[in-house]
Amino acid sequence: MADDIFCQIVAGRIPAEIVYQDENMVAFKDIHPKASVHVLLVPRKHIPSLAELKAEDAPVLAHLMQKAGAVAQKLGVGKNFKLVINTGPEAGQVVMHLHIHLLAGKGLPQSP
Ligand code: 5GP
Repeated sequence: MADDIFCQIVAGRIPAEIVYQDENMVAFKDIHPKASVHVLLVPRKHIPSLAELKAEDAPVLAHLMQKAGAVAQKLGVGKNFKLVINTGPEAGQVVMHLHIHLLAGKGLPQSP
């Protein structure tokens, strides 16, 4: 059974600064923020990466994206934010548990 760092945060075995959670996902602050607002939107279900997303799990991803706006609002950046999904080690994915970076505020990286 998968037990990566995000599985452990989702299970409450490792602390994180949680900003939102429900039965399908947990959103918590990135430990090394790349902007003044940097939150990770993480499904409770272990899905290694976007490249391995099965059709049956597509609603999980839709749910993460649907909640992004509410999380951004809660963090005080209104409707101004960027979502990034690093997919695969060569694209910068370090934690092999699907997640969306929500970045906003000062220090926001520019678009590619
Ligand atoms: P990736 O490069 O896989 O897309 O992003 C993984 C992110 O997880 C990185 O931005 C990194 O700072 C963050 N991260 C890694 N370990 C932890 C942790 O234990 N706690 C939190 N809150 N963030 C983490």
